[in-house]
Amino acid sequence: MTGAVAGLVLSLGMIAPSVTAVAAAGYDFNSAASLQVVVNKHRQLSPAAYVPGQLVRVQGERLRAQAADAYKQFAKAAKVAGVNVMPISGYRSFSEQASLYDSYVRQYGQATADTLAARPGYSEHQTGLAMDIGNASGICALQACFANTPAGQWAAAHGWEYGFIIRYPAGAQATTGYTYEPWHLRYVGRPIAEDMKSTGITTLEKYFGLEAAPDYLQ
Ligand SMILES: [Zn+2]
Repeated sequence: MTGAVAGLVLSLGMIAPSVTAVAAAGYDFNSAASLQVVVNKHRQLSPAAYVPGQLVRVQGERLRAQAADAYKQFAKAAKVAGVNVMPISGYRSFSEQASLYDSYVRQYGQATADTLAARPGYSEHQTGLAMDIGNASGICALQACFANTPAGQWAAAHGWEYGFIIRYPAGAQATTGYTYEPWHLRYVGRPIAEDMKSTGITTLEKYFGLEAAPDYLQ
């Protein structure tokens, strides 16, 4: 079968591949430096204290260069549409994540801490590819009701155009390990974000055919 015929077959839905055409294109979801790296409660970054190169400042927060460029375009387009999107939290280093996690462990114990913050080395924020966003007004910041605010609606409708996905969608805790976080954007690049949007696959675990990661293994 030639590539053109295979493409036609795929586009006509004549076969149902277990992974989509884009997912099959050989993305690297294992390497910490990959823009498509998948980090979750079963997949610690390697090395655990990984520090991305090319961190760029975005209004007081930091992101990897490609994600920062995409974020700036995303926020600019939102502004044109009358929506003021504000960055709340971007890159966090291993040691920053460790302090955050440890403070929760001291206050609430490990079981509760695990529901509030990722363990160091397991946070998407450490990749420099994730940004928590909010509204300029601060309404519903880091709460599920953020989804119903202008910035939340803008992100859900247009994030994919800039290569972002809502990494922790509603009702997917059994797969992602996290409750709904409509404010947590993850840069994966436009081809994957667009493919996930069009196929209705909402988690990176399912998209790449990885096991669900509801909780830490130890
Ligand atoms: Zn986040």
